[in-house]
Amino acid sequence: MSPAGGPPAAGGAGPFPRPPHHGAPVGFATIHGKDLVVGAVLAGIGLRVVAVPFDTDSLGTFSGEVERTASPIEVVRTKATAGAAAVGRLGLGSEGTFAPDPVLPLTLDTEIVGILDADSGVLVVGRATAPAPWAVTATFTDEPGDELDRLLGRAGFPDQRMMVTSSGADGVSATKDLSDPDDVRRAVSERLRSGVRATVASDLRADRSPGRRRVVESAAVDLVTRLSAVCGACGSAGVGPEDVERGLRCEWCDAPTDQVAVRILRCPACSADRRVLVDHPADPAHCSNCNP
Ligand SMILES: [Zn+2]
Ligand SMILES: [Zn+2]
Repeated sequence: MSPAGGPPAAGGAGPFPRPPHHGAPVGFATIHGKDLVVGAVLAGIGLRVVAVPFDTDSLGTFSGEVERTASPIEVVRTKATAGAAAVGRLGLGSEGTFAPDPVLPLTLDTEIVGILDADSGVLVVGRATAPAPWAVTATFTDEPGDELDRLLGRAGFPDQRMMVTSSGADGVSATKDLSDPDDVRRAVSERLRSGVRATVASDLRADRSPGRRRVVESAAVDLVTRLSAVCGACGSAGVGPEDVERGLRCEWCDAPTDQVAVRILRCPACSADRRVLVDHPADPAHCSNCNP
C-alpha cells in the first residue's frame, strides 16, 4: 500500500522480504499434500510452510466436474491470498497445467508455485515444465481388454492412481483415487453397461501422482532460486528470468539464429529489467546457413 496521498511506488508494490526468513510462517492453501513437497524445499531459506485447509477444487478440477476459468497465475494468487490470510503475511499457492508438447508427441506438465507477500502485494512465481508420460488418458466404448493393462503400465499404476470419468446429461461423474486394477475395470464396465463412454485417466492430484510431485518440487526449487536473487534497483527478493530475445549468432558464419541471445531478468516488485547476454555463440546445428 502507498502512503496516504502519496504516489504509488514503482510497479505499485513494495519490496518482497529477502531471505533468510528465520522460521516465518507461510500459509499454503492446499488439500492435496503439496505442502510436504514444497515445505521441504522452502525450509532451505528459513520459511516454515503451514498447510491451510482450503477447497482448492472449487477453483477447478482435473476430472472436469468443476471447470477452471481463471488463468493459472490468477488461481495461484487467489490460493496464496487465502494462505496469507490464515497465518498473517506470507501465503503460497500452486497450480499445474497439462498440455501437448508443441512439437513432440508427448504431454507436458507445467507447475507454478507462487509466494505472496500480502503486505506489499508482490507475488513471486517459480516454474517448472517436464514431460509427463504418467499423465495418460483413453476413452473406451467397448470392454477394454489388454489395452487397459497397457494404459495402466504406461501411467506407472498403482503408484500413479487412476480415475474413471464419464459425461452425461447431468454433468461429469468421476470415480477417483483408484489403486486396484479390478476397481478400474469395474468402474469402466458399469459405465459401458449404462450406455455411456468411459474415460480412464491418471488421477493428477499431487498426492496421487508421484510424477507430478517431482515437477512441483522443481518449481519450488526455482522459487527458492528467485527468492535468493535481490533487485539492484529496489532491494526486493524474487528477481528471475521472465523473457528472452532470440538471434544468437552462429559460431561459424555469424548469422543470427533462433537461439536465445539475451535472458531478461525482472523484479516482481518494481519491474526493473536486467539483460544477461548469452556468453557463447550458437551451435551451427541451429543455423539455417550452415545446417539448412
Ligand atoms: Zn552459420
Ligand atoms: Zn525491484
